[in-house]
Amino acid sequence: TVARPVDHIAFRARFDLKIELDRVDGSLRVNPIQIAVDDTPLRIRGRVGASLYRSARAAGAPPSAIQEYLRAIGTQMSINDIGSDATFDLIVEHRRAETGETEMGRLIYAGVERGDRKTQLLRWSVAGTDQWFEASGVGRSTGEMLMPVNGRLTSPFGYRRHPILGYRRLHTGLDIAAGHGTPIRAAASGTVNYSGRNGGYGNYVRIAHSGGIQTAYAHMSRIAVSSGTRVTQGQVIGYVGSTGMSTGPHLHYEMIRGGQKIDPRSVRYIENAQLSGPELQRFRSTLAGLMQVEPGAALARRERPRDLDTASADQPRRADRSRS
Ligand SMILES: [Zn+2]
Repeated sequence: TVARPVDHIAFRARFDLKIELDRVDGSLRVNPIQIAVDDTPLRIRGRVGASLYRSARAAGAPPSAIQEYLRAIGTQMSINDIGSDATFDLIVEHRRAETGETEMGRLIYAGVERGDRKTQLLRWSVAGTDQWFEASGVGRSTGEMLMPVNGRLTSPFGYRRHPILGYRRLHTGLDIAAGHGTPIRAAASGTVNYSGRNGGYGNYVRIAHSGGIQTAYAHMSRIAVSSGTRVTQGQVIGYVGSTGMSTGPHLHYEMIRGGQKIDPRSVRYIENAQLSGPELQRFRSTLAGLMQVEPGAALARRERPRDLDTASADQPRRADRSRS
């Protein structure tokens, strides 16, 4: 029934750090203990067999990694065209503490070997965005661009008599009529590089995508993103309105490539990025390094996992146990 001061506290502060507090001469002393972490990634290879998914599961790949793998490989080939004799090869981020715990991360490599045809995809970050790149350094598009609103196309790209100005000029985008307040979605992932009023465009958002493509969205009633924001495909960036030079609620949707406005319907996929110079060299040496990883090496048993709990505080210390 008498309160007494804490003598010892020990806890795992982080995957790679344990902290102990000990009372020494009446005050608590902090003792951080680093836990060594082996971050050899986990490589899993095997024959595709009857089902790539089931074979990879049986070989020890986590379901989320296999799903990422199928999505990545799916940008290159139809999964159904991969024969049963092909070899799958995937590498997942993996960390193992010397105390025995493990953590699985994201898929970082996806490969398929069909005879002497090799497909190699490496996750690589360009301007803060992760993409799959082929061994040659060419980025893979992740999918089709989507139409930013569901609505009726009322005016295509091309020369027309302008509804307000009255003379013929290039209509630099698509007009899609939709109800006031209809959500407008990013056609593809990218970074917002303009958000705000923009003359006749009214409330306007422009997004820079990979491959030198930009998309722009005009006449919004309300903007939902600010400049500098990363947006993912399908994310709501604003709402249909009639701000600026407009005759009624619609989205004026533009696509810009190399400073030229082009017909948004002429580009179905975001252009592929190409790594070059020092970045291509870093990319190649990362890929070469990963190819050196032995399958299963990350799981190889340690001789004796270090046991940091032997000096735990909730039981009296035993003289025959030394703290490592
Ligand atoms: Zn228009």
